[in-house]
Amino acid sequence: MTSVPHLLTEIPGPRSRELHAQREAAVASGFGVTLPVFIASAGTSTLQDVDGNTLIDLASGIAVTSVGAANPLVRQKVAAQLDLFTHTCFMVTEYEGFVRVAEWLNDHVPGDFEKKTGLFSTGAEAVENAVKIARAYSGRPGVLVIDEAYHGRSLLTMAMTAKEHPYKTSFGPFPGDVVRGPNANPLRGAGTDAALAEIERIVVDHGADHFAALVVEPIQGEGGFVVPAEGFLAGLRRIADAHGIVLVIDEIQTGLGRTGRLFASEHDGIAGDITLTAKALGGGLPLSAVTGRADIMDAAHAGGLGGTYAGNPLACAAALAVFEVLEDPDLLPRVAGIERSIRRHLEPLLVELDIVAEVRGHGAMMAIEFADPGTLAPRADLAQRIASACHAAGVITLTCGTFGNVIRLLPPLVIEDAVLEAGLEILAASIRSIAAEEAAA
Ligand SMILES: *Cc1c(COP(=O)(O)O)cnc(C)c1O
Repeated sequence: MTSVPHLLTEIPGPRSRELHAQREAAVASGFGVTLPVFIASAGTSTLQDVDGNTLIDLASGIAVTSVGAANPLVRQKVAAQLDLFTHTCFMVTEYEGFVRVAEWLNDHVPGDFEKKTGLFSTGAEAVENAVKIARAYSGRPGVLVIDEAYHGRSLLTMAMTAKEHPYKTSFGPFPGDVVRGPNANPLRGAGTDAALAEIERIVVDHGADHFAALVVEPIQGEGGFVVPAEGFLAGLRRIADAHGIVLVIDEIQTGLGRTGRLFASEHDGIAGDITLTAKALGGGLPLSAVTGRADIMDAAHAGGLGGTYAGNPLACAAALAVFEVLEDPDLLPRVAGIERSIRRHLEPLLVELDIVAEVRGHGAMMAIEFADPGTLAPRADLAQRIASACHAAGVITLTCGTFGNVIRLLPPLVIEDAVLEAGLEILAASIRSIAAEEAAA
């Protein structure tokens, strides 16, 4: 492999600019874009653009292409399915792939109890269906969610998402019965005990029969890769048990090896009554799943769940390939190695630069937060300038966080050591150079 990034033009190059102008004329303006570069093909952890530039991918299309955007096993299994048929609608006539994906998830999702699974297409759909199922099971209306949470862009999941802009601005009114409790954010929020006490108070105030579901990300994604303070998830598990609330763990971003464990809830030794997966599940094809206690999952009446494309056969074939990659005993140790590399490059910056507030995360889901020293006033401008410097140098990074002041790293789990090193060197150099500009200003 020639060294990467390999740039032949400025980023974006002339052909990308041309296509982007056509996009602006044809595509609704509501679609944002992190980096207006058009992709022509992909390697294991690189993307080639239409101008011949090779970029390092530290985003995986937002935690989707964990096995790479051109994984040979995914391609092989999807191609084999493509030769047979593309769709029947599982609610019209059945196919085996759907069942095999459900079985694998039932076996591997945390929780020492009998499980069943429903497949859908998007993460938001999985969240919505978990709420439907929890309501059918409990006969209760309410949905309890956490500060800084992200659960999707559909109407119900927008209501469940905390951040107003850009997700909710001008799109209301939203469905009711969604109540938000505090987060145990170690840098900025309440401590575990205070957050849990407030959530307990909210539950009691609404009455014993109000909440059907408590939905939580084990590590928040869009909210800023917030790893909750110790004991928070276990405390939520206790509250859910005490009040008969279905605990729904949204592992849509964290699941399937991303954090160095198969599921992030394993870091806290807890299991949801329902666990949600999507993003990495379909290896780039749209697929999501709701997996949970068999008695809860079976509470929805026959015909009550589904969707035209739910568990599409091509996406199921891709998921079976993803599972094979995840079962490679070398994979999760590699993810731990990704975390070590990221920490080795970024943790020295905590000491060296006063604008770095925190380096956090697990496995290949790591973030660095920028804020003013002392006050912790968020510095979204710095995160944005650093991300732009990385983009110009051929490294795809994303920002996130309630205040937009966090750079998040989501490399493919199969990224080659040399590519990861090259990407992290560019990121660290970009942070140092923007910090120096800032100090000089
Ligand atoms: C991305 C995401 C969703 C929504 O998934 P979509 O496929 O975009 O609908 C829900 N929850 C979490 C934690 C996510 O990261």
